[in-house]
Amino acid sequence: MSFNIAIDGPAGAGKSTAAKLAAGRLKMIYVDTGAMYRTIALYMLEKQVDIEDESALQKALSEIRIEIAYRDQTQLMILNGEDVSGKIRTPEVSGRASLTAAKPAVRAFLLDLQRDLAAREDVIMDGRDIGTEILPGAQLKIFLTASVAVRAKRRFDELQEKGIPCDLEEISREIYERDQRDMNRASAPLRQAEDAVLLDTSGMNLEEVVEQIVNLAAKAGRT
Ligand code: C5P
Repeated sequence: MSFNIAIDGPAGAGKSTAAKLAAGRLKMIYVDTGAMYRTIALYMLEKQVDIEDESALQKALSEIRIEIAYRDQTQLMILNGEDVSGKIRTPEVSGRASLTAAKPAVRAFLLDLQRDLAAREDVIMDGRDIGTEILPGAQLKIFLTASVAVRAKRRFDELQEKGIPCDLEEISREIYERDQRDMNRASAPLRQAEDAVLLDTSGMNLEEVVEQIVNLAAKAGRT
């Protein structure tokens, strides 16, 4: 049986960076499910699909083939044969992803893909509903969060470092809005699973977060 770790939490909590490093140390595969929602959102944007139109959405989903590849332990998203790993990281796609992810048809489309992966491989899967919906039987569940102010400042520093002009207040607002949408949607909203360990990373650096995840995994039986 595979060993699964579910990591959920709001946007910008540092889930992906920490989960990826922890996966390397634990010899597990890191799966970023947000990237899958982003990939679907990108397709809908590029094809100008009205996602409020149920049949247009279903038709578009039937045209999508998503594959996940790994290069140097980095997850790549392949959409109908094209590597879209870069294209899915724009703020426009971020906003669209949370709108698209609220659609039950989209969640149903990704459910099997995520469960099949976790059944085959030892994974650390990060997202919003992994512990509650996708992998309720995961050996370890972590709810990773940080205050909006800390998350906004981290994102701001990241963009500054890349030389991308940005505004701290605008980033805070975007993060807050995305949290609200993710927590208040009817279909698989973001919430902490009852048996998840809460990890507030507001006062922690990346190394400390990774260390905590690795320690929790050891306690759960992953050596
Ligand atoms: O994690 P990331 O910011 O890349 O996710 C983009 C969006 O995809 C989130 O804001 C959320 O709405 C959605 N998502 C989701 N369920 C997941 C992962 C992401 O609804 N398991």
